[in-house]
Amino acid sequence: MGCKVNQAEAAWLELELTRLGWRAAAAGQPAELVILLTCSVTGPAARQSRQMARRLAKAHPGARVVVTGCDLQAAPETYQGQGYELAGRAWLAELPARLTRGRPLPEPANAAPDAGPFCPGQRPPSAERARSQLKVQDGCDAFCAYCVVPYTRGRPRSLPVDSAQQSLARMARAGAAEVVITGIHLGLYGRDLDPPCDLADLLRGLLAMGPGPRLRLSSLEMNEVGDDLLELMAGRERLCPHLHIPLQSGSDQVLAAMGRPYSAAQYAATVNRALGRIPGLCVGADVLVGLPGEDQEAFEQTRGLIESLDLAYLHVFPYSPRPGTPAAAMGHPPPRVARERAAVLRQLGAAKHRRFLESQVGRRLEVVVERRGLGRSQNYCLVQLDQPARPGQRLVVEARAVDREAEPPRLLTRNLP
Ligand code: SF4
Repeated sequence: MGCKVNQAEAAWLELELTRLGWRAAAAGQPAELVILLTCSVTGPAARQSRQMARRLAKAHPGARVVVTGCDLQAAPETYQGQGYELAGRAWLAELPARLTRGRPLPEPANAAPDAGPFCPGQRPPSAERARSQLKVQDGCDAFCAYCVVPYTRGRPRSLPVDSAQQSLARMARAGAAEVVITGIHLGLYGRDLDPPCDLADLLRGLLAMGPGPRLRLSSLEMNEVGDDLLELMAGRERLCPHLHIPLQSGSDQVLAAMGRPYSAAQYAATVNRALGRIPGLCVGADVLVGLPGEDQEAFEQTRGLIESLDLAYLHVFPYSPRPGTPAAAMGHPPPRVARERAAVLRQLGAAKHRRFLESQVGRRLEVVVERRGLGRSQNYCLVQLDQPARPGQRLVVEARAVDREAEPPRLLTRNLP
């Protein structure tokens, strides 16, 4: 369940279990072992995790059902006494070996989530998915008032550069055409290493390996988009011109109350600086609506800020209080208001996205083929190809028009030699 980091961890667990002699059960067949990585980032994600645990136990009678991940860490009592085996996040990296050797699983109450070794995360390419993921960072100590992640994943930790290089080389050998570099708070990469380094150092290390899959960054906080990074992105073809920079709110008051360390003006300045430095750059944002303190005026400030920026897309989420976080004790707008505000911003996001696609018409784009005649450009545009091509193939195309009726909208293109 949940974020790209969970997906990368799940894929790594599968790789490790396979290496230790397990085989994946065919779809629809009963399994002997089921592992669920839960998510607790929002109320609905936690609910879905609990439903999924019940559904898996029912679908695989007699199987060992192992529950782990963020929601187990946040609310262990909801999974206790239901016949699942519970595995604390601290020992996720050891889970395949423990399961294979029949050693007991440490329960979440026994250890802080960051007490054990760094859990790797690698999602290699497959027939259905050309984009792969490499986890290089875990944990966060920013403690934004609404966020449960620092409690479920613990302090920031990083994969050393040489280990990341080895993982990338493995993914390249497995045929990856694009690797998304992921982390829980990616901008904190390297601060815990000895000697300390940063994300730009990691990227330089990965790019120095020579030709290989193109690299895309997952999400980066606005105060971590430094000149060093922009310079790298502007000058290296292999580093996709794409930044996903969470905004969350355009109201200074709400940002301060939520412990987000920037103002709306600083956010705008960062986005505009990046857009000015990198031609064709795709900048996307997350926004949370219905946060504590978000009155109508604060919401209008968020809408106004988004309208003023050349964002390429928006991910909009209604806020849901997470038990144990400071924001859960604060009042917040009713869910109906949050839903209405989310609908307004999603519409605005869709309009921004179409405008971004239109700005690409006439441009030459490098594309990695996904499925069903679709591909993704370096700057994250969905592209309809005019000729059949195999997933993972790299092509150069010219954007001819925007198909606004398609869902999601996409660029219509022509292959270039
Ligand atoms: S930066 Fe804030 S929102 Fe992001 S994971 Fe850390 S605490 Fe959560």
